[in-house]
Amino acid sequence: MPAANPNPDPAPPPRRDYAPAARRLVSTVLVFGLLATAAYWAWHQPFMVRARTLWELSRMPPPTELPVPVDGVAAERIADTFGAPRGADREHHGVDIFAPRGTAVTSATRGVVASIRETGLGGRQVWVVGPGNERHYYAHLDDWAPGLAEGDVVVPGGALGEIGDTGNARGTPPHLHYGIYGAGGPVDPLPRLQAYEGDEVEPAGDD
Ligand SMILES: [Zn+2]
Repeated sequence: MPAANPNPDPAPPPRRDYAPAARRLVSTVLVFGLLATAAYWAWHQPFMVRARTLWELSRMPPPTELPVPVDGVAAERIADTFGAPRGADREHHGVDIFAPRGTAVTSATRGVVASIRETGLGGRQVWVVGPGNERHYYAHLDDWAPGLAEGDVVVPGGALGEIGDTGNARGTPPHLHYGIYGAGGPVDPLPRLQAYEGDEVEPAGDD
């Protein structure tokens, strides 16, 4: 009668079953793949143009030259009034571009229309977020361009409105107040307008 083996073979270690882990890994990869595909698809849909444009603009440097945002006005005709006192406690944070009432006001940059409103000193105004996240302020408009809406993507030369005298410009010669606000506060637009060497901006359209 064989003696009981005092030292039986240890039970083999339980075989690890890797199948569930593998299945989890595969389904995780699939889910992330589908999400990435859906995100890529959505990012390139027309309804994402605004978000995509804002992203691209935020990665661009602020422009060093800009076209005059009023039809038919040369930069040499714009007075240097940035920083000039306005009353006892204000400074002029932009330039005034004079032109006949109704002259087209156009965007100096590519951008996204952030705000269209009528309020305070600026009267009828449009705010456009441009390259480098600078905010471009177009004020005293007689009227806004037909159909212009917040969230619209605009190109240089794109119509924003018409020269007027709304807000605190009421009763003065019609002009555009044009201001630029960067991360550090107001920026003088005039050196950029004077530096512009590009072609006269034509409204987008057929050739
Ligand atoms: Zn002004």
